[in-house]
Amino acid sequence: MSSPWDLHAHSTASDGTLCPAGLVRRAAARGVRVLALTDHDTTAGLAEAAAAAEAEGVELVPGVELSTAWEGVEVHVVGLWIDPAHPALQAGLERQRRSRLERARAMGERLARAGIPGAYEGARALAGGEVVNRSHFARFLVASGHGRDLAQAFGRYLQRGRPGYAPPSWVPLAEGIGWIRAAGGVAVLAHPGRYRLSGGRLRRLVAAFRGAGGEAIEVVSGSHGPAQMHVAAGLARRFGLLASVGSDFHVPGNPWRELGRLDPLPDGCVPVWEARSGPALLAEAGP
Ligand code: AMP
Ligand code: MN
Ligand code: MN
Ligand code: MN
Repeated sequence: MSSPWDLHAHSTASDGTLCPAGLVRRAAARGVRVLALTDHDTTAGLAEAAAAAEAEGVELVPGVELSTAWEGVEVHVVGLWIDPAHPALQAGLERQRRSRLERARAMGERLARAGIPGAYEGARALAGGEVVNRSHFARFLVASGHGRDLAQAFGRYLQRGRPGYAPPSWVPLAEGIGWIRAAGGVAVLAHPGRYRLSGGRLRRLVAAFRGAGGEAIEVVSGSHGPAQMHVAAGLARRFGLLASVGSDFHVPGNPWRELGRLDPLPDGCVPVWEARSGPALLAEAGP
């Protein structure tokens, strides 16, 4: 249940609660040797994480997590080994962050109409930057007495159909994959078990993802149970995708989304890092 690779994690640069250096230190202490920082729609944490990784003897994989749209479904795509300085990627991420701010304003207005003023300002203050997401609204709602915990705040106010929800306008799936590839990265379909799609629709999504240049799929994920892991492994084999492993860590104290707390890849999966082998650290860390 412990993996030296963890290729999906968040910091305070988006909706995680640890700063990038703190995240790297926690990963190192938990035996992670290769860590990807994959904040939502920003690469702002990568420089701090890289410096901390060097000090800790961890290999940092520069990453990002994009929210994209495919046939009305919100699909997350992780980019690994991206060049964060690539202009097309940065222009795309800026566009995403502008959409986030517009959506956050709309959510603030809706919550105000529902009798909860100040949510936009509160969420922005908690975000501390441009990447405002629903997690920040959930934290504001809990702190202002509108929910016992984040899950309840989501269920009451922030999920689709609830009074604080406003629809996002994310980049189309294929275009988002294009940004990652332009920046030299590998596009990974994040947590496929979380989209609540039928088997046939999920296969159509994976085919579209593959057709647009996606190369890998998360098989082992903090968002997946054993059944979802096996479905994802079957999709990896069927569509010839590499397999990735990531906790989707956001906050300490969530036992099923802890850094490095990940099952081994099922048989027949080709690990995504095999396509990117290189540093001696990888050989040392595996299998
Ligand atoms: P957004 O990108 O604004 O739609 O916000 C999505 C983020 O909210 C995800 O990255 C998760 O971190 C978090 N999230 C989504 N659903 C829930 C939930 N039911 N409970 C707690 N956090 C959630
Ligand atoms: Mn998140
Ligand atoms: Mn995600
Ligand atoms: Mn994530």
